[in-house]
Amino acid sequence: ATGRRYPSAVDVVIVGSGPAGAAYARVLSERAPETTIALFEVGPTVSDPPGNHVKNIVDPAVRAEAQRRSEGPRPLDASTPADTMDGYANDAERLTRPGTFLLKDGWRQPGQDGLPAGAMSSNVGGMAAHWTGACPRPGESERIAFLGDLDDLLDDAERLLAVSSTLLADAPLADRVRVNLGRALDAGRAADRRVQPMPLAVRRDEHGSLHWSGSDVVFGDESRANPNFALHDESLVTRVLTDDRGAAGVEVRDLRTGEVFEVRARFVVVAADSLRTPQVLHASGIRPNALGRYLNDQPQIVYAARLHDAPSAPDASVHDTSITAQSGVSWVPFTDAESFHGQVMQLDASPVPMEGDAVPGSIVGLGWFCAKDIQASDRVAFSDTAIDDYGMPAMRIHYTLTERDHATINRAKQAIVAAANAVGEPLGDAPFEFPAGASLHYQGSVRMGQVDDGTSVCGPNSEVWGVPGLYVAGNGVIPTATACNPTLTGVALAIGGARDLAAALALRAIEPTPNQARNTDARA
Ligand code: FAD
Repeated sequence: ATGRRYPSAVDVVIVGSGPAGAAYARVLSERAPETTIALFEVGPTVSDPPGNHVKNIVDPAVRAEAQRRSEGPRPLDASTPADTMDGYANDAERLTRPGTFLLKDGWRQPGQDGLPAGAMSSNVGGMAAHWTGACPRPGESERIAFLGDLDDLLDDAERLLAVSSTLLADAPLADRVRVNLGRALDAGRAADRRVQPMPLAVRRDEHGSLHWSGSDVVFGDESRANPNFALHDESLVTRVLTDDRGAAGVEVRDLRTGEVFEVRARFVVVAADSLRTPQVLHASGIRPNALGRYLNDQPQIVYAARLHDAPSAPDASVHDTSITAQSGVSWVPFTDAESFHGQVMQLDASPVPMEGDAVPGSIVGLGWFCAKDIQASDRVAFSDTAIDDYGMPAMRIHYTLTERDHATINRAKQAIVAAANAVGEPLGDAPFEFPAGASLHYQGSVRMGQVDDGTSVCGPNSEVWGVPGLYVAGNGVIPTATACNPTLTGVALAIGGARDLAAALALRAIEPTPNQARNTDARA
């Protein structure tokens, strides 16, 4: 045996190193630095610092290798284009993006729509090593009405993700895009819901280059310098352990050796994405009624347009994955009246591939995301017999678009055509509807509720109902039907949970520890 690389006990175990898990590590490092924390991530470390966005890797071969290694047990063929946006917009039902992998099976039940494009990433940093970084705030009914501190949490999420609304706002063509969109779409909108620059998780370094934020930014130096925090990659958490007091630790398989260990912890945070967080709970026998249910993704419509009278800006390369500010990213916020939101992105940050030799930044990709009509029957269920490639209970997706969803999608198609005409010359005959799941914005599967009435998995502090010390994190916690990209909100909710956990740790420090209490009981 190569020996054990894990501690036998810590204060807090975190499962998953995407931005939600990283937010717990960061907030605990800031607020409770004496707390011992072990983070387990099933995927490998593919970038430096751990969790760094792969698009920040300059060498295309090294970047492609990082993408392949993020694609779980069955990576894409080595010849798959590594250029992040290649193959993004095509009519394949099972659309795959580099750095992600699809469900092997179980993605559709007979007679249903399913999530044919449902995908995950397995790597340190999770999907946020591959994402686009759009961080709009939820508005109107997207907001979680019972969370009084939501704005404060969103502010802190913007800090942790290094979100900026201004970095690309003064790009050469951005103003023109925004003015034209605003003229066409702003009438009747509240001030905060008018066309504006998209807040982006992007930062500029001392040399002036732009970098995408990944989990590395969320971890921050605070976590990296914390001697009480350790990140263990290639480590699959197979279940959460519980005892009569609540969470008691995890069982974790070291994928390098195949050995299985128990790590005791009074607090466990499962931040294993919206599909795998309910999987870990299910495998642990923790199965509240709402587990896996209310699953929703954001039906997505895409289109492209050539900007009117675009001047040339010859210094940018369209094949470069680094960000070159040209037309920036504009945001058409969600409103209840419309039930969708839009992003209009310069090509090198857009999902629609470019043809020909257009001036970089002069073609914009438009992406409209719809809020789903949430139903309890839309769910990720788990097989009692079949297993996935990791040996975990296999997923069975039950998912149907309602009549209201089809109506919203049709209105979004009209809206995206109007927006394309407002900014320029639409490319192609008609907008294009992605297969369900392609948004990669899955929500609701471990949703938060104000009270334990069977329609939620966790309370407002993210702690699972009836299992003290067990927290869930990630977009699955979001209970509302949102159209805005969910990561900012997911991280905000993780920050709320982490603050609650830090307070619980502080309280525990002045009480006998569970072990002391148990020893006393045993002796009594
Ligand atoms: P993840 O980032 O998915 O991390 C979960 C981690 O848990 C993974 O690393 C996984 O390997 C690990 N894990 C799972 N099971 C286990 C287990 N049993 N044991 C140990 N570890 C486990 N969102 C936006 O808001 N804006 C965007 O512009 C945007 N663009 C995107 C573009 C692309 C191409 C992609 C791929 C995603 C995009 N997203 C976007 C989605 C965004 O990346 C996710 O919302 C975000 O990463 C979710 O964070 P998370 O921490 O909840 O989950």
